[in-house]
Amino acid sequence: MELRKDPITKSWVLIGDLEASAPGGPTCPYCPGNDVLVGPPIYQLPFKNRSGAIRVFPHPGPLYRIEGKAERRAEGIYDKMRTVGAHEVIVESPDHDSRISIADEHDIADLLSCWAVRIDDLKKDGRFKYVSVFKNQGMVAGQEIKHPHTELTATPFIPRRILYELRASQEYYERKERCVLCDIERQEEQQGTRVVDISGSYLALCPFASRVPYELWIVPRYHHASFEADLLHRGDSTELAGMLRRCLARLEQVTEAYHLVVHTSPNTHARGEVPGYWSTIHDDYHWHIEIMPIARNLMKSYSIKESYYCSTTPETAAAHLKDLPAGREVAQQQSLGFKY
Ligand SMILES: [Zn+2]
Ligand SMILES: [Zn+2]
Ligand SMILES: [Zn+2]
Repeated sequence: MELRKDPITKSWVLIGDLEASAPGGPTCPYCPGNDVLVGPPIYQLPFKNRSGAIRVFPHPGPLYRIEGKAERRAEGIYDKMRTVGAHEVIVESPDHDSRISIADEHDIADLLSCWAVRIDDLKKDGRFKYVSVFKNQGMVAGQEIKHPHTELTATPFIPRRILYELRASQEYYERKERCVLCDIERQEEQQGTRVVDISGSYLALCPFASRVPYELWIVPRYHHASFEADLLHRGDSTELAGMLRRCLARLEQVTEAYHLVVHTSPNTHARGEVPGYWSTIHDDYHWHIEIMPIARNLMKSYSIKESYYCSTTPETAAAHLKDLPAGREVAQQQSLGFKY
């Protein structure tokens, strides 16, 4: 595996011939009592309100390895570097059949804190420019490990979609001296047609130019660039946990699988950064969570040469989601026959 830079778009691509992964046994290594299969966790966070813990392990088939330097080098006009980075599995619960949509909101709050702690910790490593937290739920979303978990990667580059967003937010701020997501949040709140849920501090909406049907974002109603700094400073993430749980409980009634990604600020202290490049990041970028459903039955959505066609308007999607019940009991019932 190595990282190659697209010389035109300047985005990095992970490239390598697929190695056969270790065959998984019938025993789930992340269920209680099977610790011998996975070794000691890198980090664990005991639940505050019940027994058990959230545990973080190195990924069994990592895309990035923690040892060494990135060693950027040229091959003619091209650039490449080693796949230095971190790839972790965050085991959300000791319970093999749990899901965020049916979990206790205090446990979800602990999970969000765990995401924040790991991002914050890996950002101290100057080799890493970005730390991504993401979740693939459902086989069609590429979920490989059955036990409920989130993944984290720390990379020596900023992922392409985030880089576009960071550059665009910076440009918008230069022109208007305002944060683009603060503007979006305010307008969506006033218009209401794409709003799915609202609480004191958070707004859930189907974005104006949704790329896939039922795309859903959770956006803070206040300005903050960094997910981890914000959550660690606040201490209590129960309100965000409730918002996330309700969104997923609704979404699981229309889709069997989704990708979830936390969009936060990059590591502005990473080695090799141009001094001053991120000087307005605290004002121009606004963290948020993006959820991209994958539902083959309602997906006439496809991309042609990187342009999107989405077969459900965000207004229809938001109206539908808003009407769906968001209780834990409903999500539990839905889970009967829910395969992933
Ligand atoms: Zn398990
Ligand atoms: Zn903002
Ligand atoms: Zn985003």
